[in-house]
Amino acid sequence: MIGRFATVAELVTRESPETPVHLLRPHRLAEAAAAFVGGFPGDVLFAVKCNAHPLVLETLRRQGVRHFDVASPMEIRRVRETVPDGVMFYHHPAKTPGQIALARDLGVCHYAVDCVAELEKVVAHAGPDVVPMVRLAIPKGSGAVYDLSTKFGAAPEAFVATLRRARALGLAPGVTFHVGSQCLDPEAFRLGIRLACSLLEGAGVDVTLMDIGGGFPAYYRRTRAPALSAFFAVIDQARREWAEPRGIRLLCEPGRALAAEGGSLLARVILRKADAVYLNDGIFGGLTEVYWGKDELSLPFRAISPAGALRTGNPVAVTAYGPTCDGNDRLPYPLELPEDTVNGDFIEFNLIGAYGREMAARYNGMASDAVAVVEADFAGHGEPEGARVIGTGPSFCVARINA
Ligand SMILES: *Cc1c(COP(=O)(O)O)cnc(C)c1O
Repeated sequence: MIGRFATVAELVTRESPETPVHLLRPHRLAEAAAAFVGGFPGDVLFAVKCNAHPLVLETLRRQGVRHFDVASPMEIRRVRETVPDGVMFYHHPAKTPGQIALARDLGVCHYAVDCVAELEKVVAHAGPDVVPMVRLAIPKGSGAVYDLSTKFGAAPEAFVATLRRARALGLAPGVTFHVGSQCLDPEAFRLGIRLACSLLEGAGVDVTLMDIGGGFPAYYRRTRAPALSAFFAVIDQARREWAEPRGIRLLCEPGRALAAEGGSLLARVILRKADAVYLNDGIFGGLTEVYWGKDELSLPFRAISPAGALRTGNPVAVTAYGPTCDGNDRLPYPLELPEDTVNGDFIEFNLIGAYGREMAARYNGMASDAVAVVEADFAGHGEPEGARVIGTGPSFCVARINA
């Protein structure tokens, strides 16, 4: 942690950092947490993989997020140390015996499984008091940028078989699924809830917990998705229709939507050429996810001079390279940089609070763990106006599900 600053302008004039800095805005994390805790009709877990920084976990806990979705011993230890009363769900469907035993020793009761073999492994190593959360695969085309049902999740037959085996072992299983990350269509959640409930009914298995996963969107430059409240409204309708009559309580486990707006990346221009710019961070560092998400994850950004003033020149599209010697180290889309941007300027990329620092590698000996807290918004009080987040308006949807 290099400190706490009122504005980015204050940070750059005081510190002039030559290596990338991850900026955290705890008040934005708190706002996102309040929106979920107040708006989601059930319990809210935070998916730790998208940002495990202690300040993030503490801030969410203070806003009433008490549950955490974890997937590794490191995440489990981090939550135990940072949020001692946190309730953890080990939602990785393929675990080693040692990982399961460590989770049990640190008080984890809920474990995702997507087949009978993993269920039996969990019971063998965590004991007979576990709550297996059986993960259902969601059919393709659910309106998400990332499909999270190709690697994990049981097809209907295996889903039912795993639930029945859990019952036969005397356990009280729950159900979980994930509609895919950066889901643009609230109907995906209705589809998931309906599919899970109708399979439960067909199988004659009762459950009391249904975790409908993460996938709630962040609003990148090209995102066209309804507001979060529209997602909650659809989910609540589906809950009343399908879950409540069966005595099922909902949970969700957002990562991106809780953390994205709470962080930005302060990169710096190493070298400016007429049609290209070489930055001190790139797709092997804090901008890894942009490589995978391409235009869908086009980040709002602004250029700031070393004196803390916003560059306001006409935008010129340039190729943006990262700092490694690898030719692939290039942003997948051109950066519309103000024409007055020069060597030594800073480029602040917003919405990098989720899947930013966590995904960074250490390629070419280039890595930065530097974190700073900034009190002002990306383009808010005390800051020069910058590129704004768009797409946060009322319902507007590109992807529709043929349900
Ligand atoms: C990644 C992940 C999440 C968080 O997904 P977001 O799209 O960031 O909300 C939640 N649950 C599981 C099991 C995950 O793997």
